[in-house]
Amino acid sequence: MKNKAFYLLLLSLLISLPISAKEKAQVIAHRGYWKTEGSAQNSIKALQLADDINVYGSEFDVHITADNVAVVFHDNEVLGIPIQSVNYIDIMELNLPNKEKIPTLNAYLTKGRLLKTKLIFELKAHATPERNREAARISVDMVNKIGVQDQTEYITFDLDAGKELIRLAPNAQVAYLNGDLSPAQLKELGFTGLDYHHNVMKEHPEWFKEAKDLGLTINIWTVNDPLLIKELAKKGADFITTDIPVEAQEIVSQLTD
Ligand code: MG
Repeated sequence: MKNKAFYLLLLSLLISLPISAKEKAQVIAHRGYWKTEGSAQNSIKALQLADDINVYGSEFDVHITADNVAVVFHDNEVLGIPIQSVNYIDIMELNLPNKEKIPTLNAYLTKGRLLKTKLIFELKAHATPERNREAARISVDMVNKIGVQDQTEYITFDLDAGKELIRLAPNAQVAYLNGDLSPAQLKELGFTGLDYHHNVMKEHPEWFKEAKDLGLTINIWTVNDPLLIKELAKKGADFITTDIPVEAQEIVSQLTD
């Protein structure tokens, strides 16, 4: 009897070890690792630097121009020019703060393919439901063309885009950003995770458990306060999206070591 109890204890320890390692929060560099010399948000340099610091993933934002060229940039406008309403030729010569040109998605993913970091692909909202679905199609086609399907995880605020991403890339991770759907609703729609602002998770602390129970991943943005990073990692966030990825990795590693 005593032996049996011992083996059961040993077995439960063996089972619990990989689970606890798996539950460690991982860090995603928001718009790449850009708060450092020579970098800029959503630049190819920021993607390379995110890979250099070994984060789980590097997030970036994608808009589709009027002539269907996908580009990597955060804001809807660049120097007052609305990206989605103009042709690529109208923005192709514009510089990022580090003097890089605005990257095309093609160039960005081609670089990403050489790296090990996950490509956390935020598809921005477009003007109409049909345009959002089209943006999703253009995105998935490019990911397939470059051959980074296994490295790419999609996130979006737009429900039409999200549903189309799920339909076109059924094996991909697709998480929803907008914070207005419960884990049960997301699961029902086919999302693989939620990716919510930290204030949303503060308002709905029950969503940590609900998401876990449903097998959804929990990513939280954009967490730049070290104490909050610590708190959310302890509460069970799978991913922390942050502008301070080096510090965040340090905080998370101290928690789990
Ligand atoms: Mg983003």
